[in-house]
Amino acid sequence: MGGMGTMSINLNPAELLRFAPAGVQQRTIIPVSEPSISSLEIEYVTDAIKSGWISSAGPYLTRFEEEWAKFCGRRYGVAVTNGTAALELAISVLALPLRSEVILPSFTIVSSLDAVLRNGLTPVLVECDPNTYCMDVEDVRAKVTANTTAIMPVHIYGHPVNMQPLLDLAKERDLRIIEDAAEAHGAECLVHDIWKKCGTLGDVSAFSFYANKNITTGEGGMVLTDSAELADRLRSRRNLCFGRKERFLHEGRGWNFRMTNVAAALGCAQIKRAGELIAHKLQLAEAYTRELLGLPLQLPYIESWARTSVWMYAVVLEESVPLDARSFAARLLEKGVETRPFFLGMHEQPVYANWLSDLHFPVTERIARRGLYLPSGQTLTEESLMKVVSAVRSIL
Ligand SMILES: *Cc1c(COP(=O)(O)O)cnc(C)c1O
Repeated sequence: MGGMGTMSINLNPAELLRFAPAGVQQRTIIPVSEPSISSLEIEYVTDAIKSGWISSAGPYLTRFEEEWAKFCGRRYGVAVTNGTAALELAISVLALPLRSEVILPSFTIVSSLDAVLRNGLTPVLVECDPNTYCMDVEDVRAKVTANTTAIMPVHIYGHPVNMQPLLDLAKERDLRIIEDAAEAHGAECLVHDIWKKCGTLGDVSAFSFYANKNITTGEGGMVLTDSAELADRLRSRRNLCFGRKERFLHEGRGWNFRMTNVAAALGCAQIKRAGELIAHKLQLAEAYTRELLGLPLQLPYIESWARTSVWMYAVVLEESVPLDARSFAARLLEKGVETRPFFLGMHEQPVYANWLSDLHFPVTERIARRGLYLPSGQTLTEESLMKVVSAVRSIL
């Protein structure tokens, strides 16, 4: 783990406490995630602000779109305000028949489900795989009906969905793929003997660049596609569908989902450092696995067809542990370690209780109660990682 966390100057609020005058409380909690902001990010962002291009026009924006699309290996990138907006926009341009069915996992963030609902489509939830926590592709196959028009695979915690059988199914049944790659910057999946980057596997693919994601713009998102027509529609709808000839004669209904040039400047610096940022995640995962092996925890499993990007180092408490994730997290916090619980499945969300409550997914329900992720941020040093490990050991 040589050099972990040593390369970056971090200027987020928690970190600034280090430079705070005497008397200001020093940081004692190891945070679950912190971004790495180097002098390059500061240079680019300063340049963007000084140039006066602080809204959504400006050179960093097009550069960020082009460079992220290129990094992933796709033709077009359309930057937006966040990953949730990216998903909603991505679905909208596919023009799927109203109320037709979109299959997605229950074990995901609410953004995935809401993107389907806000487009007037019918979500059909599936169970997740007990090893990768990604959607169970067999369950997807079982849930395809004459009314299904699309599938939304969500790569969980950096591990890809098993895309080969999913893409085969989509082809067989003529279904669109909306890929939620918000947690999978740099992850790869083997599809018919070729390694493919996550973000290249959908008709439209959505990323988030939220502060805790592997590549960040603070808040931000992007939709990738290889279709010139879809890219055109994405750009128009991101920007209120302004008329091309007559500006205020709108070509349709859109949103203001525009990313700023300032955020894009941050993103351009992060792309330059993408190799380093993703390598750091793999290193910390390797160290955690080495140190935690043998404890009653299910550690991240990596399928032979997958190259994970380790968004977060996720563990699930085995049945023998007399604590649930919530009490385990509370005990860790007492020891100065911040964690996050797993997602609560969409079928268990009270706000959707009226129409999803009769669903039952045992794996999703179990990991929601037994799973949490450990500090996995870009500023996590080997020293703090070892503190996390000894806190975990002392509780188990
Ligand atoms: C983070 C995330 C999103 C949403 O991204 P935001 O930028 O926070 O809106 C969507 N899907 C998944 C799987 C995510 O982890």
